[in-house]
Amino acid sequence: MTRMLDYLRENQKSIEKTLIRLVKAESPSQDKKLVDLCGEVLMEEFTKLIDGDIQILKKSIVGNQYLLTYGPKDWKDQILIIGHLDTVWDKDALPLKIEGDTLYGPGVFDMKAGLTISLWAMKALKAFNIFGEKKVVLLVTSDEEIGSIHSKEIIIQEARKSSLVLIPESSIEPNGAVKTERKGAGNFYLEVKGVAAHAGINAWDGASAIEELAYQIIDLKKLANREEGISINVGIISGGSRSNVIAKDAYAEIDVRITKREQAELITQQIMNRPVFVEGTSTVVTGEIERFPLERNEKVVSLYHDLKEIALLHGYELEEGSSGGASDGNFTAGEGIPTIDGLGPIGGGAHSDNEHIILSNLPERSALLAEMIAKHLQ
Ligand SMILES: [Zn+2]
Repeated sequence: MTRMLDYLRENQKSIEKTLIRLVKAESPSQDKKLVDLCGEVLMEEFTKLIDGDIQILKKSIVGNQYLLTYGPKDWKDQILIIGHLDTVWDKDALPLKIEGDTLYGPGVFDMKAGLTISLWAMKALKAFNIFGEKKVVLLVTSDEEIGSIHSKEIIIQEARKSSLVLIPESSIEPNGAVKTERKGAGNFYLEVKGVAAHAGINAWDGASAIEELAYQIIDLKKLANREEGISINVGIISGGSRSNVIAKDAYAEIDVRITKREQAELITQQIMNRPVFVEGTSTVVTGEIERFPLERNEKVVSLYHDLKEIALLHGYELEEGSSGGASDGNFTAGEGIPTIDGLGPIGGGAHSDNEHIILSNLPERSALLAEMIAKHLQ
C-alpha cells in the first residue's frame, strides 16, 4: 500500500462517477456532435479535478481534440498520456449496467476507463502537490477507432516533445497485463486491369483480371512468415461483371502486420513490385505501412520494470504481454519515444457486447499511473 493508492481508494465512488459520466456521453467516432458532447464532459471533469490548462483543437469532420495540462504550461519538457474519446458503438447500441463489481457499457474498456484513471492520476498528483521539472499533458483524440487520420499529426508533434508516453488503452485480458509490444500495421490496395472479351465467341482474345488476381493473392500469401511475425490477410476482393465476360477489372484489399520496424521497407517493396502472371493484365498497388510496431526494446523493458516495482508496492504482480492490434502508441514508438501501452484497468470484451471493466481495480490502475508519472517527473 502507498499513500497514493490509499487516497485513490478513498475516492472509489467519485472515480466511478467520472467514468459513468463519460460512458453515458456516448461517442461513436462518426458522430461529431456526440463526440463533442463527450468532450464537454471531459473538460468539466478535468476542470473540477485538476483545474489545469485546456487547449481545444477544433476539428471539422471528427470530434474536437484536447490538450489537458497538469503543471506549468510553458514548461518545455513533458510526459505525455494519450487517450481517445470515440468508441466503436452507435448510440443506444449497448446498455450501461453494473453487476456486482463489473461495469458493462459502450467504450468502458476501450477506453473511457483509461481516460478516467488518467484524470484521477493527475488529481492524485495534485492532491499530494507533486510537481517536477516536467509538465504532464493528456492528449485526448476523437478518431482512434477510425484510423487516427485527424490526430496522427498532433500525436507525433506532442510525442516529439515528450520524454515518455503512457497509453491507458485497454489492458490484456483477463488479469490486466500491460502491453510492451504491439504489431505494426498497414493496408494495401490492388487494382488489376485485364482485357474484356466474350467468354464464348473470342475467349482467347481476353486477359482475365480475376485470374490474375487469383495468382496475385497466392503470391502475396507467400510473404507471410509466422516465425518473423509477418501476417498478410487479403480481406476484400471484387471483380468482373458477368459470367460470360472475361473480367476487365479486379480488386483486393490487404492487411499487413509486422513486428519489427526494419521489416517495413522490405515487405512494402515486395508487395508493391508485382510480377505479371496472366499476359495482357497489369496490376497497380497503392498503400503503405501506416503504423510502425511498438517494439519491446530495452527502454520499454525498463519502463515495464518501473511499473512492476510500483505494482509490488501495491501488493500485486503486474504482467506484460503483446498485442496484434495497433494503437496510437504505435505512432509514438515509431518516433523512437519510450512508450508503454495497455495501462487501462482490468476488463475485457473491447468492441464486443461483453465490453466491461472491474470497478474496484480503478484506484489501483490510477495509482499505478500516478506513481509512474511521479517517478519520471524529475
Ligand atoms: Zn482504444
